[in-house]
Amino acid sequence: MPTLEVKNPATGELLKTLDADTVESMRIKYEKARSASLAWKERSLSERINVIKSFRSIAEKNLESAAQTLTSEVGKPIAQSRNEIKGTLTRLDFFLEATQKAVQTETVYPLEKGIKDNLTEQIEHEPLGVIANISAWNYPWFVGSNVYLPALLTGNAVLYKPSEYATLSGFLMAKFLHESGVPVDIFSVICGKGDIGAALLDLPIDGIFFTGSVATGRKIQEAAGKKFIKVQLELGGKDPAYITDNVDVKNAAEATADGAMYNTGQSCCSVERIYVHEKIYDAFVDAFVHTVKNFRKGDPAENETYVGALTRGKAQLDFLLRQIEDAVKKGAVVLTGAKQIPSDAGYFLEPTVVVNVDHTMDLMREESFGPVIGIMKVKDDAEAIEKMNDTDFGLTASVYCNDTVRAKKILSHVNAGSAYINCCDRVSPRLPWSGRGLSGVGLTLSTYGIETFTRPKAWHIKS
Ligand code: NAD
Repeated sequence: MPTLEVKNPATGELLKTLDADTVESMRIKYEKARSASLAWKERSLSERINVIKSFRSIAEKNLESAAQTLTSEVGKPIAQSRNEIKGTLTRLDFFLEATQKAVQTETVYPLEKGIKDNLTEQIEHEPLGVIANISAWNYPWFVGSNVYLPALLTGNAVLYKPSEYATLSGFLMAKFLHESGVPVDIFSVICGKGDIGAALLDLPIDGIFFTGSVATGRKIQEAAGKKFIKVQLELGGKDPAYITDNVDVKNAAEATADGAMYNTGQSCCSVERIYVHEKIYDAFVDAFVHTVKNFRKGDPAENETYVGALTRGKAQLDFLLRQIEDAVKKGAVVLTGAKQIPSDAGYFLEPTVVVNVDHTMDLMREESFGPVIGIMKVKDDAEAIEKMNDTDFGLTASVYCNDTVRAKKILSHVNAGSAYINCCDRVSPRLPWSGRGLSGVGLTLSTYGIETFTRPKAWHIKS
């Protein structure tokens, strides 16, 4: 039997050795999901809503232990783990409210009374069937539940493959779902690394919903090319922020420092590059560095810690140090950070601020996914737009400006799925979450992100 070792990235401690799936055990889970899906689909939406309401209560009651589990396996500061699970409950409330409206059967003909041709036309939303939800480790509660909650509510069965770095949280979510009344075969955890994720795609599933890196997204796209099923890929970002000359400099610096370093910079929508209008550049950089130096770093289990461990350990640390080294070689200057925080076993990087950067540097082009930021001076809005668009990614972009009309005009020229004015690193359940370019295809959240787990059936009824 293959196994999966789960280690605490902050301490190196072995937390658990889990039995991992095999191709055969996965096939059995798939077959059980397929046969159970018929009865789940037949249940009324209100029954499924009640089950998910019960999941909400169970998750809320166990919030503290779930947050501790999350921190222990991904090294996320404990206060941020609590925030993530609380935030998941808020998203869940949206799904509970919005699902009925998003997928109710719509009569599109006749729309007016008095038409007497004995014809009725309706659009009905049927579940996709059995879907694969392959997930990332950085926000396992958020990115997992963005998929499995609306998928379950709309009547699908889910094979949920948590990241190998967040599998304990994945099993905990499954436990809460099963206790709340989701049939065991309707939500199964697939335990393992990338090879098991790849093998999952060989099963005759009805949809693939993936969150993770561009490199894996490409492999999934290729594997899925042989099938004719829905594929959604939520991938990385290199999200820009532009600070105009019309801002409260201290507020903008504090907000974007948070946007860059929260979750130890390991967010798909972290601020990854900052452009600052030349008129306020020096003041902004001073305030930014001051904010970053004051972040509490270290043990993720402590309530006050703000920057925690690098979840993927040495490989991730080496990648970030290489990006910084490449920038410095090309003329960049490190204002703070770029050093490993001493630790017996875990891997931690001091939050790092780099200036004198340009777009020849990897730091300004590749996703960093860590506590590292490059800040660059621009002369005007036109240059900021050009720089913001000089990327293969397109997840989010933010502009800080007291003149909302100016900010909106700038962002209307920026190619990104989400546009933020005077805020950043933010996700709302009411709005669609989608990327452009290398940031992916498809969407989650909003009513569109509920409907996406269904396919329309067109009814032509003659009486
Ligand atoms: P990853 O691609 O390494 O792994 C993601 C998942 O894919 C894991 O469960 C992994 O086991 C599985 N996997 C690996 N190889 C596979 C294969 N060949 N076939 C099928 N599955 C396979 O990504 P990660 O390190 O877990 O996540 C970090 C990335 O996720 C970052 O790039 C981040 O920006 C992105 N992300 C995007 C969003 C978004 O909403 N756009 C949200 C969170 C994270």
